[in-house]
Amino acid sequence: MKAVAGKIPFEIEEIRKDFPILKREVNGHPLVYMDNAATSQTPQQVIDAIVDYYSNYNSNIHRGVHTLSQEATDKYEAARKKVQDHFNAAHSYEIIFTSGTTHGINLVASGFASLLKEGDEILVSALEHHSNIVPWQMLTAKTGSILKVIPMNQDGELVMEDFYRLLSNKTRIVFINHVSNALGTVNPIEEIIKAAHEKGAAVLVDGAQAAPHIKADVQALDVDFYVASAHKMCGPTGVGVLYGKEEWLKKLPPYQGGGEMIATVTFEKTTYADLPHKFEAGTPNICGGIAFGAALDYMNSIGFDNIAAYEKQLLDYGTEKLLEIPGVRIYGISRKKTAVISFNIEGIHPYDIGTIIDKLGIAVRTGHHCAQPIMDYYGIPGTVRASFSFYNTTEEIDKFIEAVKRAKTMLS
Ligand SMILES: *Cc1c(COP(=O)(O)O)cnc(C)c1O
Repeated sequence: MKAVAGKIPFEIEEIRKDFPILKREVNGHPLVYMDNAATSQTPQQVIDAIVDYYSNYNSNIHRGVHTLSQEATDKYEAARKKVQDHFNAAHSYEIIFTSGTTHGINLVASGFASLLKEGDEILVSALEHHSNIVPWQMLTAKTGSILKVIPMNQDGELVMEDFYRLLSNKTRIVFINHVSNALGTVNPIEEIIKAAHEKGAAVLVDGAQAAPHIKADVQALDVDFYVASAHKMCGPTGVGVLYGKEEWLKKLPPYQGGGEMIATVTFEKTTYADLPHKFEAGTPNICGGIAFGAALDYMNSIGFDNIAAYEKQLLDYGTEKLLEIPGVRIYGISRKKTAVISFNIEGIHPYDIGTIIDKLGIAVRTGHHCAQPIMDYYGIPGTVRASFSFYNTTEEIDKFIEAVKRAKTMLS
C-alpha cells in the first residue's frame, strides 16, 4: 500500500501499525474507517497508557498521602500541562478537564446565566452542532437574552457581512465552531474574535472538529474559551478540555458543587477552591485525562503540519473521485475545509448508501450529523459523510468510491 501520489509527509504504513483496530474485518472485508469526525481511532500508545493506569497506579487524586495517589495526581497534573502546552495556554490552571465538548459548552453557558440580563444578545452561527445551540437556547430562556444567528451560504460558509450587521454593543458572547462537523468548513475565527472583542463581547470557540486537524494557539487567537473532546483526537471518550482565560474563569460561578471544588465547607457557608479545581467537582476521569495527554503526545509526534498536508491530499483525491460519479452533490465546498466530504446522490436516501457500503466494510456516517439547521438550509434530510484522518489512505478512498458506485447501481 502506498500513500497519496506526490509527496509523502510521513510513513503511512508505520502509522497504521499503531492502530490495532485497523487490522479488523467488517462483514468479511478489511475495515475502512471513515467516520473520524464522529470519533477517531485509538493508537496502541494511548491504549498502553490506559492499561498502565489500571494495572499500576489506579487511585484517587489530590487527597491521598499514599504513593499510588501521589503517582496518579502527578500523572494527571502532567497531562493538564500537556494540554496547556498543546493549546499554548498561559497557565495550567486555565485548563479545565471536562467530560467533553458538550460539558465544556454547558459549563460556560450555565455560568453566563449569572452575567446576562434581559435584552442582552448572544450570537451563534448557522453551522453549529446541536451541542453549541441547545445550551444557549436554555440560557436565553433563563435570562431573557436574545439568540441571533449568523447565516450561511450555499458553499457552506458563514455570511460575514451579516455577522458584522448582527454584532453590536448589545452582544455579550459569540459562540462559533472552529470547524463545522457536518461540512468541514473552517470558520474565520480570528476575524470573528477580533471584531467581537472590539464590541466588548466574549467568544467561545467549539474546537471539537478542529482539534484533530489544526493546532489552535489560544493566546495568539486571543480567544476567551476554547473547548474540545479527546475522543476526536486519538484519545478516549468521556474526557475533554475547556480552556478559559483566567479573568473569565474567575468571573464565572462554579458549574457543579461537590468534592474537589471547595476550599472550606460548613453548613452556613462554603468557599470555593482556586482554579482549575473550582470547575472540577467530584472524582474526575483520571485515566481519561492521562490518556488524553498520551494522545496529544502521539499526535504531536506525527506533527500537525504533516497531518494537515496529508489530509489535504486525501480530501482533494476523494473529492475529485467522488465528483466523477454522476448525480453526486457535495455539500460544503469552502476553499478552507478539513478532510470531510458530506454528499448525496440524486434520488437516493443517504441512509441506504451508508447501509450498503457498511456491508463492504466501509464506515461512514449518515444523517443530520447533529446539525439539523444546516440540513434544513439545504432542504435535505441528511447526507452521507466520509471524514478522513491521517491514518486513511488513497487505496481506502478507492474502495469507498467503488462501494458508493455499487450502492448507486443497486439503489437506482
Ligand atoms: C463532536 C462535536 C461536538 C460534541 O462533542 P462531544 O464529544 O459529543 O461532547 C460538538 N461540536 C462539534 C463541532 C463536534 O464535532
